[in-house]
Amino acid sequence: MQHEMIMIRYGELSTKGKNKRDFINQLARNIKEGLKNFSKIEYQVRHDHIYLILHGEDYLSIATRLKDISGIASFSPVYRVKSEMETILETSLMILKEAKGKTFKVRTKRAYKLFPLISDEINRAVATKILKNTDYKVDVHNPDVLLQITIREDATYLFIEGDKGAGGYPLGIQGKGLMMISGGIDSPVATYLMMKRGIKMECVHFASPPYTSEAVIDKIKDILRKLNRFQPEIKLYIVPFTKLQEEIYRVAKESYAITIMRRMMYRISERIATHHNDLVICNGESIGQVASQTLKSIREIENVVTLPVIRPLAIFDKVDIIELSKKIETYDISIRPYEDCCTIFDPKNPTTQPKKETIDKIEASFDFEALISECLLNIKTIVIKEESGFEDKFL
Ligand code: ATP
Ligand code: MG
Repeated sequence: MQHEMIMIRYGELSTKGKNKRDFINQLARNIKEGLKNFSKIEYQVRHDHIYLILHGEDYLSIATRLKDISGIASFSPVYRVKSEMETILETSLMILKEAKGKTFKVRTKRAYKLFPLISDEINRAVATKILKNTDYKVDVHNPDVLLQITIREDATYLFIEGDKGAGGYPLGIQGKGLMMISGGIDSPVATYLMMKRGIKMECVHFASPPYTSEAVIDKIKDILRKLNRFQPEIKLYIVPFTKLQEEIYRVAKESYAITIMRRMMYRISERIATHHNDLVICNGESIGQVASQTLKSIREIENVVTLPVIRPLAIFDKVDIIELSKKIETYDISIRPYEDCCTIFDPKNPTTQPKKETIDKIEASFDFEALISECLLNIKTIVIKEESGFEDKFL
């Protein structure tokens, strides 16, 4: 028998009223966008569930897509059969045989009041059928499988708990954020976590050719294509950073170069974010990971911006970040080796405790504002889209 419908349950829906409506409407839009290639699906958006009526579209392909759409708590295939007892019994047995578990419980809702058996009798008849034909046992308190049956006049609907969704909030419900993306392991994971929270992400990358190779850009494009599963369209701003970086390394003593460089990255990120209505700046920093990520460094770097900075990985261990990056399939791309000719930008003793006076002195010694403006004028924007690969354009 074919699954005819899918019932989608909402994620963290603690909010009420208008917020709840916004949540549901945004989720419905995202689901339609994510499933746009399944053109026969019919959508029913209700306050408690979203129903997809499949009209012959393939359940398993749809289920694979639904697992990546944030804001979905869980979803179940729903069987629709005639409202007659024999069919209900057979279908129940089939569903339980397909499900995994040792114990079960049946819960019937009898919306069609003229159905010859009452709910309790239906529960019992179904349970008896299952007990006779399988090794399942009944557990009314904490069953592995809860079979729910809703009897209406025109049809009866049967379903069990089904697959877990991604949780979180529907993408876009929290506005947009700007991720600093590097091609390493951390920032793609941070991007994914932000998306899952409902924040639509744009990305900025600082490129310093010829010191950094074009292969890094290819890596980032491939990474973002992987993240298209969670966000079908991602904008990437590539900032030509070479000149500013060369200047930094000319004026700053070696131990401060990274501090100053990161302050410049933050400044530029904030201007891009403000220009594109991104509400937060995000990155893959993790406390203590490297010299620029000690708390003292973070404080001296972050204080150049007023937008909030979110670091989803701040308290993660590297092993956990790696595990997540494997799960979202960006790991293999992130560790791809590439020729990097960037030794001059890799100072030997970066400071872990930058001092404000030293920073101020260095920054007063060159016209970084002019260089920042030049960076901003020459940004290249790329849109990474699911099917069509990507398109380049100049702002
Ligand atoms: P990742 O942290 O993504 O694994 P990484 O280890 O090379 O890359 P770090 O030196 O740890 O980068 O930098 C911390 C964070 O700063 C990164 O997670 C990323 O968000 C941001 N970042 C670093 N380099 C760049 C860059 N060239 N362009 C944009 N963002 C960058
Ligand atoms: Mg890192």
